Amino acid sequence: MNQLQNFINGHYVNPINNNWIDNICPANGQVYGKIPNSDQNDVQEAYTAAANAFPIWSKTTIEERSKILLKISDLLEANLDRFAKAESLDNGKPISLATTVDIPRAASNFRFFGNAITQFASESHESVGHNAINYTLRQPIGIVGCISPWNLPLYLFTWKIAPALAAGNCVVAKPSEITPVTAYLLGNICNEAGLPKGVLNIIHGLGATTGQAIVAYPQIKAISFTGGTKTGAQIAAVAAPLFKKLSLELGGKNPNIIFGDCDYDLMLETTVRSSFANQGQICLCGSRIFVEASIYDRFKTDFIAKVKALKIGDPSDKNTRIGALVSKAHLEKVKQYIALSKEEQATVLCGGNEVTVPHLENGFYLEPTVIEVTTNDCRLNQEEIFGPVVTLMPFKTETEALNLANQVPYGLSATLWTNNLKRTMRLSSELQTGIVWVNTWMMRDLRTPFGGTKASGVGREGGFEALRFFTEPKNVCIQY
Ligand code: NDP
Repeated sequence: MNQLQNFINGHYVNPINNNWIDNICPANGQVYGKIPNSDQNDVQEAYTAAANAFPIWSKTTIEERSKILLKISDLLEANLDRFAKAESLDNGKPISLATTVDIPRAASNFRFFGNAITQFASESHESVGHNAINYTLRQPIGIVGCISPWNLPLYLFTWKIAPALAAGNCVVAKPSEITPVTAYLLGNICNEAGLPKGVLNIIHGLGATTGQAIVAYPQIKAISFTGGTKTGAQIAAVAAPLFKKLSLELGGKNPNIIFGDCDYDLMLETTVRSSFANQGQICLCGSRIFVEASIYDRFKTDFIAKVKALKIGDPSDKNTRIGALVSKAHLEKVKQYIALSKEEQATVLCGGNEVTVPHLENGFYLEPTVIEVTTNDCRLNQEEIFGPVVTLMPFKTETEALNLANQVPYGLSATLWTNNLKRTMRLSSELQTGIVWVNTWMMRDLRTPFGGTKASGVGREGGFEALRFFTEPKNVCIQY
């Protein structure tokens, strides 16, 4: 049985209280490890290590910081198979996805920010007529907290840590207690890459205790959080009176708007992916599919046929397309939403049932599910399900499609399928989301601002936005 430890000051250590939490394998429902159930005393230790490391790390040259981050990236790539296997086992995601998306992206996060910091510049302003020059110092904030969810564990963990470190901060980080293993493995990689002790500290435990202790720790000056909207609100309530800088990347209920003039085959293929990749457990998945009435019946038939053909099974099998959901509790939550279909006059067109996978009978498997709804007002269309469930609904006009897309509390991303340029420009401007994909989905360029509007979050990460978040600007004005 794996027994994970906290990574504090460059060493693996047990939690001070010696309390442990079971780590469960989603593929078979069995306990396969123990993780620290850390509390505020461990956060205190992590903070102290980070605070001791800060004076040196914050003054380390950009070239040196960059070199270490690039080395971490190289080492992750060199250990791709080991990390991908660990991610798939811990999360239930297909090994093909962990190998081609999760771990390569974690390596890219370190590479990208290792390079980006060498290009990051600040402004200067000449005050003409006053004989003065202003320049902006962008200094590291100090000790920052990074808290990440279970759906893309190492991918999102490193998306925060890499820019925080690149900018010269020291970090206290907590991965989701549901998927802690790859974050645990990262400690050794950081040591091997020469990251000085205490610069990155990784502690494991429950959100309500360990996570809360990080957020409430007065000297931790900024919190970068990705997770559910409810948790985001709790974090904001704790952090606001302490005047912390906050970046909140929260839930989504993303529209996928399909017009009759799109490239049909590409749209169909991509929509299967944007609906069910990672068992639908990606904040960017298009969970509300709106289809122009002229192609609605054709789409419905073709889409259902493709969804039914998706191979559900053992996440470690490289041919599996749909693995296990992350936990029993999450499976039950998703099933409750499917059960809502009856009271909301919606029709389950395919899926909806649990699946028993031979030799993995206690795993958390669910058929990819397509539900036809009659209104956008129902809970199925208004609440984040975050599982392998999408809804379908026809629309007649562009205005109707836009209203349906926007009439939701969330505003993370939208996907648009059309070859009409004017319509693309109109809708891209009017959609109330942080990201719009046109004729593609989840194509990520790490330089772009990433984040949501409305209940999907506050602030942007990605590119220089992340480096701006993780630095404190200071204006210096010199009169000469
Ligand atoms: P949660 O909000 O439950 O948890 C996210 C992280 O916060 C976990 O590490 C969790 O710990 C921790 N946490 C929980 N409560 C607190 C608290 N009171 N104080 C501090 N930390 C806390 O989200 P999930 O892990 O369930 O992830 C799924 C959600 O994440 C979905 O809503 C999804 O849309 C969103 N998400 C958003 C993305 C975006 O970029 N906008 C990207 C990916 C996911 P623990 O797990 O131990 O409880």
